[in-house]
Amino acid sequence: MNIDRRTFVQRTGLTGLSLLAFGLGSRRAAADPDPAPDAKTAAAADNPADPEILQFRLGDLDAFVVHDGFLGLPSVQPMFAPEAKPEEIEELLKRNFLPPSRAALSLNVLVVKGKSGVMLFDSGAGHAFGPAMGHFLRGLARLGIRPGDVKTIFVTHAHSDHIGGLVNENNEPVFSSARIVAARKEVEFWTASAPDLSGVRITPEMKAQSLSGIQKVLGAVKGSFELKEPGRVSPEVELIASPGHTPGHCYFLVSSGEEKLLVIGDAVHLHALQFPHPEWTMTYDTNPSQAIDTRRKLFKQASADRTLLLGYHMPFPGLGHVRTDGPGYAWMPRPWVV
Ligand SMILES: [Zn+2]
Repeated sequence: MNIDRRTFVQRTGLTGLSLLAFGLGSRRAAADPDPAPDAKTAAAADNPADPEILQFRLGDLDAFVVHDGFLGLPSVQPMFAPEAKPEEIEELLKRNFLPPSRAALSLNVLVVKGKSGVMLFDSGAGHAFGPAMGHFLRGLARLGIRPGDVKTIFVTHAHSDHIGGLVNENNEPVFSSARIVAARKEVEFWTASAPDLSGVRITPEMKAQSLSGIQKVLGAVKGSFELKEPGRVSPEVELIASPGHTPGHCYFLVSSGEEKLLVIGDAVHLHALQFPHPEWTMTYDTNPSQAIDTRRKLFKQASADRTLLLGYHMPFPGLGHVRTDGPGYAWMPRPWVV
């Protein structure tokens, strides 16, 4: 870390296992011997079992969600919903049967076997943040898929919990045969000499840490990028701009026959809070008010169209629908058997 660790923890309220998100962590930070918010979970993460996998069909396509692991934090704030009163958060957590003293976000990586080969949607966190994440490759191996078999990786945005899995411990590309499809705007933003992070509500030190983590990975895989404008990017996949969380954040609409699945990346981080309150943001949003508009638009359209969604950070496996609920919305996880 660039700053003294104790100062960082005092300033942010985050402890060792929690210095994870979005490029602000390091292997050393994640391995710090702080008591974890949930010691039992942390111990399991140090010696993880094979990751959870959900298999399902989307039209003619075989699809899987592989659980890369989880981001654990000792509390919702300060990272999430900085606009909310603590008692509002407490009430919503209770209403959703969630613990008051920690937040846990899944990392759900979609794998699809299509006509043009194996496709991934984001890549998991890789080695960026320590042992609670980065399990995706073991899941892929269980599916009988080697990294060299992956033909296309669709990247929703360039935060490290989404692109960290593109490289190994030595920052070398993992998926040697894959083209990496991302929005041109996103990659150009993060690879500029001084990206405008004025809307991001974290310390300058944390911004620098996050940026350097992102640029390191983008630099390692730059030869594989195919930078795209919104529109169809493969026979089965359409790229849809959804800016706010980052400038070039995008959704991917995967279609097969009549069936469709919308991969929404980080449009939502905490289902219990942001479906009822789309106006609640998170501190890493590069443009918080645009992120709110984008989220509202998604909820309105996807609830009306009854679109099946995959949320990267929704509770595993992250498949579900959004429906109206009073003045706001609610997340309806897709039942195991339908
Ligand atoms: Zn994320």
